[in-house]
Amino acid sequence: MIDPYGRTITYLRVSVTDRCDFRCVYCMAEEMTFLPKSEVLTLEELDRVASAFVGKGVKKLRLTGGEPLVRKNIMSLIHGLSRHLATGALDELTLTTNGSQLAKYASELATYGVKRVNVSIDTLDPTKFKAITRWGDLGKVLDGVAAAKKAGLTIKINAVALRGVNDEEVDDLIRWCGSEGLDLTFIETMPMGDIDGDRTAQYLPLSLVRAKIAKTWTLAETDYHTGGPARYARIVETGQRIGFITPLTHNFCESCNRVRLTCTGNLYMCLGQNDSADLRAPLRADPSGRLLDATIDEAIGRKPKGHDFIIDRRHAAPAVPRHMSVTGG
Ligand code: SAM
Ligand code: SF4
Repeated sequence: MIDPYGRTITYLRVSVTDRCDFRCVYCMAEEMTFLPKSEVLTLEELDRVASAFVGKGVKKLRLTGGEPLVRKNIMSLIHGLSRHLATGALDELTLTTNGSQLAKYASELATYGVKRVNVSIDTLDPTKFKAITRWGDLGKVLDGVAAAKKAGLTIKINAVALRGVNDEEVDDLIRWCGSEGLDLTFIETMPMGDIDGDRTAQYLPLSLVRAKIAKTWTLAETDYHTGGPARYARIVETGQRIGFITPLTHNFCESCNRVRLTCTGNLYMCLGQNDSADLRAPLRADPSGRLLDATIDEAIGRKPKGHDFIIDRRHAAPAVPRHMSVTGG
């Protein structure tokens, strides 16, 4: 799959549910209206769509959400998709999780060929963790990280940089990740969906975080890239990789290799744009999959050049109305 700007699409992110057992303040309002179950693709349908993408050259699949591990029977989907690892069609099957269910599932994930997971932890302070996630329990998440390590999974921690919340904790997070052998990526808040709070108050530019880190740690440049918005360096003192996801700058769109599928079968060609393609109708209308294939090709043919995210005082409204949990980040 090659888009109009010559970018080859090799990476599909699938939001398997919009539901979650946390209510992170930057991601969701406390009272959320979730999609009726009838609109959500079944696990078999998710497998069919993901497999169609693998057939078209996708080499990396990431399951996300909402919280992917709260979807009922999610392990049967992961087990099913692992057949593409066995044939060599797929290079990587991975997921982004809040870690709440990881203690339960880590060893099964490893059995199905999952080698790496991203776990979101914004703070190591249990009280702050509760305040950020509203419903989360840091202890359970840390148990999940320990179980994942024990199962042999490589773990990357994702932390959203939040002004006045975790900006004083950056060194602690780096030290902890260093001692646990985990990579760490900081993420800037993105203006997606209505939340109960004020985003301009939360927004902390990573240029400031990086400058602060550089006062204490030695950052060695690397040429490691995933085709996404993260820029990576290595912390010389710990040996671990550190990433900075700065979605509000445009400098990564030219290497974009990814598209995103929602749990209702909507394909978003760009995280920061509203255009999407309905894959559910062609999926259900034609069991042969030919209509689905044609719809995917047509959608890739209109992947936009880049996004239009801005957060400042004049642009306090979300750039896109959907929450991050719809397209999975
Ligand atoms: N529930 C899983 C988790 O939290 O890892 C997977 C889905 S979550 C939407 C994926 C990532 O997006 C998490 O690391 C989360 O912190 C991040 N995220 C959510 N809302 C965001 C926002 N408005 N801006 C930036 N990152 C956000
Ligand atoms: Fe749930 Fe992840 Fe959103 Fe937090 S960031 S509310 S864990 S989907």
